Amino acid sequence: MARSDMQVEVIVGLEIHVQLCTASKLFCGCAVESGQPANSLVCPVCLGMPGVLPVMNKKAVEYAALTGLALNCQIASFTKWDRKSYYYPDLPKNYQVSQYDLPLAHHGFIEIPLPSGQTKRIRIRRVHLEEDAGKNLHATGNFSQVDLNRTGTPLMEIVTEPDMNNATEVKALAMELQRIVRYIGASEADMQKGQMRFEPNVNLAITRHGQVFKSPIAEVKNLNSFRALEKSVDFEAQRQLEEFLATGLTLQTGNKTTRGWDDAHEVTVLQREKEEAHDYRYFPEPDLVPVRVDEAWLDRIKAGICELPLQRQLRFVREYGLNDYDAGVLTLERSTADFFDDAVKAGGQPKRICNLLTQVGLKIANERGCRFVDLGIKSRDVAALAEMIDRGQVNASAGARILAEMVATGRDPQTLSGQLNLLQKSDASELEALVDQVLEACPQALDEIRSGGKKGPKARSYLVGQVMQRTQGQANPAVVSEIMARRLGI
Ligand code: ZN
Ligand code: MN
Repeated sequence: MARSDMQVEVIVGLEIHVQLCTASKLFCGCAVESGQPANSLVCPVCLGMPGVLPVMNKKAVEYAALTGLALNCQIASFTKWDRKSYYYPDLPKNYQVSQYDLPLAHHGFIEIPLPSGQTKRIRIRRVHLEEDAGKNLHATGNFSQVDLNRTGTPLMEIVTEPDMNNATEVKALAMELQRIVRYIGASEADMQKGQMRFEPNVNLAITRHGQVFKSPIAEVKNLNSFRALEKSVDFEAQRQLEEFLATGLTLQTGNKTTRGWDDAHEVTVLQREKEEAHDYRYFPEPDLVPVRVDEAWLDRIKAGICELPLQRQLRFVREYGLNDYDAGVLTLERSTADFFDDAVKAGGQPKRICNLLTQVGLKIANERGCRFVDLGIKSRDVAALAEMIDRGQVNASAGARILAEMVATGRDPQTLSGQLNLLQKSDASELEALVDQVLEACPQALDEIRSGGKKGPKARSYLVGQVMQRTQGQANPAVVSEIMARRLGI
């Protein structure tokens, strides 16, 4: 079949599980912590012992409501818990407490930034709460082990409508959602710790001679990196197209399937035909009372919502004249964006402060594996350093060195510029003498400039470089160039 006479549209919806950063589990008092000895954070409730009674964690509901509001959702005034039955060794109760027909939040949307600088609105179908399962470990020997520390950890499941049309949009949504839950403090969303997991639902709509064929939806389970998410969507789109081309028009029927991601070979692998909702035998959880959301409580949560990351990114572009990329980098972490706002308020040029943060500060933080604010420097010191660069007291490369020293020593930029001897020499008479010395020492370069040939500009920067070298980089290059131009009569 010729590809040229058909149109292929990729359709993707996303399910995302996000671990909420509550101190304790969803229905018992056990601590939520990773890296503890196996089965040390358990109690009769999360172990599923008969006769125990769960008690709802209000903070988890608050975080989920907060997320629902940040995603422009309607918050249900009445919601309840349901049992979702399935059997697995890491699920001691043989059911998961979840929310079936009455999710806490529904009918929202999220704006995602696209590489073009535009944004796209993706609808959010629902946000609900559920408990996580434990972990089966297959680390050593001819047996498996079960660790139930994670059992009962509060998870938020967010489901989008199938509004994304390529892997780039899917990744943008995942990244934007990560920024949002971190900004509002609902989750640390650390993918390496499994705190954010993705399940894209992918299929194709193929239009040929006015007829539309839809391939069966494939759901790729449990992806825990942006890279795997992006690659698996691309792979599925390609695989389904090839299957369509190979089998002709037979793809319009067929059930939804579940596939796994093989990271080593970068392929998806068929796991099973997807079960239907009725396979789970959902029914209302008899041990928990329904949740009635109080208006006053909801208003309090609403009042606590901060400026969201995309709004802030767009504001940084609009208000401070940053480019989209830099604004994106600075708003990735709320604490960094707060720091930037503070430093600008303290009086530095936004672009200058942005350069210091993105080119020096964030690099050091990355090397140390911490957040920028954990470096412990003060926003007013960074503002002061930016001002010193703007006034020509130190040049940009000295500024970078001073910032690194501020991190290392905790001292302020004024003190450091003196100690490190990095204050720029702008004193004309001293620099004039140096320029004269250099001109005398480099007659060849001088000839090249005077002859007006192609090599002229290069020779000129060479001479400026010579003056910089003689001052150990402390001369103000703008002043040196000016003197040089005057001496050469240009
Ligand atoms: Zn427990
Ligand atoms: Mn789920």
